[in-house]
Amino acid sequence: TATLAELDPEVAEQIDAELRRQRDGLEMIASENYTAAAVLQAQGSVLTNKYAEGYPGRRYYGGCEHVDVIEQLAIDRLKGLFGAEYANVQPHSGAQANASVMHALLEPGDTILGLDLAHGGHLTHGMRINFSGKLYNVAAYGVDAETQRVDLAEVERIAQESRPRLIIAGWSAYPRHLDFAEFRRIADSVGAYLMVDMAHFAGLVAAGLHPSPVPHAHVVTSTTHKTLAGPRGGVILTNEADLAKKFNSAVFPGQQGGPLEHVIAGKAVAFKIAGTEAFRERARRTVAGAQILAARLGRDDVAARGIRVVSGGTDVHLVLVDLSQSSLDGRQGEDLLAELDITINRNAVPNDPRPPMVTSGLRIGTSALATRGFTEEDFSEVADIIAEALVAAADDDGADPAVIARLRERAAALAAAYPLYPNLA
Ligand code: PLP
Repeated sequence: TATLAELDPEVAEQIDAELRRQRDGLEMIASENYTAAAVLQAQGSVLTNKYAEGYPGRRYYGGCEHVDVIEQLAIDRLKGLFGAEYANVQPHSGAQANASVMHALLEPGDTILGLDLAHGGHLTHGMRINFSGKLYNVAAYGVDAETQRVDLAEVERIAQESRPRLIIAGWSAYPRHLDFAEFRRIADSVGAYLMVDMAHFAGLVAAGLHPSPVPHAHVVTSTTHKTLAGPRGGVILTNEADLAKKFNSAVFPGQQGGPLEHVIAGKAVAFKIAGTEAFRERARRTVAGAQILAARLGRDDVAARGIRVVSGGTDVHLVLVDLSQSSLDGRQGEDLLAELDITINRNAVPNDPRPPMVTSGLRIGTSALATRGFTEEDFSEVADIIAEALVAAADDDGADPAVIARLRERAAALAAAYPLYPNLA
């Protein structure tokens, strides 16, 4: 019966401090978002007590009548949102969704072909010490040195050469659309499955602002907590009945035991929200905000410091900043913006000359601020703040502390204008 604060003040204090951190700062990590208060409520519910191995109507435990309804709601809403025939909402994370798909479609030693981690791919697309790199033979495509975009002629050439069993299209740090129809043509030409990992851009697909991979891929995986703004988790979608069966048994019992029904309830709520006009409007501000940021960071005062925008702009919710020609490195850039309470992450850029712990890039996303309510005018202000900070810090003499203090005040004013989770204590 004791409250968290009574029972465990050490944990309670840190949760309170984290809420304050989220409220006071500007969250611009491209893989993050602020989920709805209703999702938090579903996640913090008694559903966490329930074992429900199996699937709705086919469980290995009694007492599943309520979680069955909830999980079926999540499945049906997800299918509706993306126009897919089959959905699995049980993967605990994006990584486990990908592991399950590979478990279903591949044998150890088979070849997978994905975007190189150093060019914006994900760990689960074949990184050396990830399960994907240990279990499977990895081939990779990169981005073109000139355009910094995926070159499908090159993907085709590497596919012909490496004869993968699975081709992966999708990314963690890439600012452009991919041509899913062309990826499918290439996959078919070498007899490979095509998996699209839409973890980052799923919310934009749901809003109709990004081409959908669902009609083209054999399977689509996603996280639910990035642009989709749900609880932390993963999902799998397919249009093919025989594949759907394989994915279901690969998730449970292949990769997981009991599903997290409290998270699945949060997913159901998030999918309901993602089908609304308010969500589409928010997604439009997300992309507009990223484009405003890319345009500002592409201006002459920034370019004069050797700072560039990867691929010259963005089609999505993030901007990649290339510092490889600048005296400022990725770590310094991340620390600088942290001083302004703007949270971003440093990120390798294609052909990065600096080591992975330092990097020459910044990945800056707009989803969380769009969720918070930022207008295009607010995004212009935050773009100015970031540009002015980077220009100041890339100066030979380093940033003037008075300049940084003023920028910090401007960032704090933006955060104060949009109270976050006003009903949480
Ligand atoms: N796939 C992509 C493209 C991602 O960017 C991520 C997360 O960053 C994942 C999968 C893994 O998601 P999770 O962190 O939920 O395992």
